[in-house]
Amino acid sequence: MTGFFDTKIEYLKGVGPQRAALLNKELDVFTFGELLQHYPFRYEDRTRFYKIREIQSDLQQVQVIGKIISVQSIGEGRKKRLVAQFADETGIMELTWFKGLNWIGKRLVKGVSMVAFGKPQRFGGRYSMAHPDLEPLSGTQEEEPFFQPVYTTTEKLRHRFLDSKGISKILKGLLPLALPKIPETLPLPILDSLKLVSKRDAIKEIHFPSGSDALRKAMYRLKFEEFFFLQLRLLKLKLARTEKFRGKVLDQTQLLTRFYKEMLPFQLTEAQKRVIKEIYADLKSGLQMNRLVQGDVGSGKTIVAFICLLVAVDSGYQTCLMAPTEILANQHYEGLKDFSEQMGLKIALLTGSSSKKKREEIHRELVSGKLHLLVGTHALLEDVVKFHRLGLAIIDEQHRFGVAQRAKLWAKNEDFYPHVLVMTATPIPRTLAMTLYGDLDISVIDELPIGRKVIQTVHRYDKDRLKVFGFLRKQIEQGRQVYIVYPLIEESEKSDLKSLMDGYESICRAFPGYPIGILHGNMKAGDKDFEMTRFSKGETKIMVATTVIEVGVNVPNASVMVIENAERFGLSQLHQLRGRVGRGAEQSYCILMSKYELGKDSRVRLETMVRTTNGFEIADVDLRLRGPGDLSGTQQSGITDLKMADLSKDAEILVQAREVARKILEKDPHLSSAENKPIADQVARLRKNELNWSRIS
Ligand code: ADP
Ligand code: MG
Repeated sequence: MTGFFDTKIEYLKGVGPQRAALLNKELDVFTFGELLQHYPFRYEDRTRFYKIREIQSDLQQVQVIGKIISVQSIGEGRKKRLVAQFADETGIMELTWFKGLNWIGKRLVKGVSMVAFGKPQRFGGRYSMAHPDLEPLSGTQEEEPFFQPVYTTTEKLRHRFLDSKGISKILKGLLPLALPKIPETLPLPILDSLKLVSKRDAIKEIHFPSGSDALRKAMYRLKFEEFFFLQLRLLKLKLARTEKFRGKVLDQTQLLTRFYKEMLPFQLTEAQKRVIKEIYADLKSGLQMNRLVQGDVGSGKTIVAFICLLVAVDSGYQTCLMAPTEILANQHYEGLKDFSEQMGLKIALLTGSSSKKKREEIHRELVSGKLHLLVGTHALLEDVVKFHRLGLAIIDEQHRFGVAQRAKLWAKNEDFYPHVLVMTATPIPRTLAMTLYGDLDISVIDELPIGRKVIQTVHRYDKDRLKVFGFLRKQIEQGRQVYIVYPLIEESEKSDLKSLMDGYESICRAFPGYPIGILHGNMKAGDKDFEMTRFSKGETKIMVATTVIEVGVNVPNASVMVIENAERFGLSQLHQLRGRVGRGAEQSYCILMSKYELGKDSRVRLETMVRTTNGFEIADVDLRLRGPGDLSGTQQSGITDLKMADLSKDAEILVQAREVARKILEKDPHLSSAENKPIADQVARLRKNELNWSRIS
């Protein structure tokens, strides 16, 4: 059955070996199945004809019936262009060409009715269309208005007559052969209850829409299906784990009660309490926990983590807390050391720079069970790190770890899986969370501790620098401290390192007499610690740094964050950096410095930062600007398999698909019923494709 869709496209009529090779190379399309899934990325609305007088500049694209009344060649050499006057009974417009002039020139016939299609632009009181699609009026166009699909193509393909229309043409050859063979992947009752069109209709309408309504239904069906199978896979993963791995019951709360009574430095927020309850319910449920805690910067995730660790230790298990950087691991260790020791717990820190002797000691104490809490970096994942009884593993700032690394933590014990809690550094939109972490349960800390002052954010240009420096000086004189961050996207980039050093020198000149520290990724771990400690003790007033301070660093007395070349940072990074201030009682500020000319996206990013401090809102804008493909961790998540659905636009369909998948698995966890056979078959097909690919790459 699948044989047909695996057929190489060179065997398709009108393709042949040479064009097939080009389609392989340029579009990654090898088989009939892949060609059918090369969906149009947009459609041109050819359902309506405009009169020239009706054209307005806000129209994206229009089609006009008219006649060419004159053709002129204007300009010389590279500036040469061809201009045709095109008229209907309501007015005149211009059609212009800058390339392929000879070829076009021969085809411009005067006095014959033609259809011109393109984007109108206004020049000198008249509308003009550059490189319009121009065809003789055949009669059928007016009778059968249609949506014309536009396919991704390339220059090389165009040379071989595989422009969008060419691709449409070969699809026209394939479709009649393919349609009867396309299997339905969803059970009839689901199609009926959700009013989804059949897979065959959807594929047909996507490539050859019969109208806007039919097209919308086809898109909906295909988006639903993509989300459905992605969510089904994630939910099955989750189900398989709960079936296979009983969780250890962690339910002791004596230590916790003592901590609440004697040591808790503040009142927990309602959101913190709720999330702790959700986690506690998991820990004592007897099922293995895999939970994600989302919370904005500063929402107090660390204390939530610590409280859960206490339950685990109290119940007789070991715990670990893994952070993405050494600085952050250090900070967690320092923050938790006093609490732990007062509670009689043995805690240790393991990072890449721990000495051999220290490591060996830690390894020994882990295996003997003497160590209760291990804080560290990736070093924790090494195979030599074995536990006696790891009951709870917490990963902080997950977006820097991959799914595979999470899996490594699961395998830390010989005979059972620990409970796993993942904490994200920055919020991500719900749709993305459902997909990136769709195999986890999700808790959200959606509230900041009370009394926090909202960080004031401003955008300043380089010419305002003196004023900004004046402001910094005042803040320092009031006892505050300041971060100045430079972009060092790639720690190895020499030019970035130079701009950091130049920046450092100019800051030193601008602030004579103030102690200034510097921190970047190329420094030795010991030097980094030294600088960080000096700053957190208040010995240095200004910290010139790269994004190494991005995650987690906590110096409550620092009240100003200056970000240089802010236009070069991504939104989530800016938000994360800003989160380094506003941690104390003082009013805090974030100053985004940039050059004057900015691209559209950069401007939106900076405006968003000035407008809001809500991490979830920022994450939404980020997803819309960048699309999910660029976000880290998406490669293994199946997001890149989405061909039709869009996480930033189709949230509702995603939620619906997940819910349907959940209900189906609830009733029929192994998809073994006759009704669900179409689903089981499709799952098998998808898996087979994956295997094929993993063998090739
Ligand atoms: P994040 O969620 O970004 O990891 P942290 O756990 O580092 O946040 O907490 C930020 C700061 O807020 C810390 O100084 C922490 O002690 C403090 N904090 C956490 N919870 C509360 C609370 N309920 N009330 C007051 N301060 C809190
Ligand atoms: Mg944190």
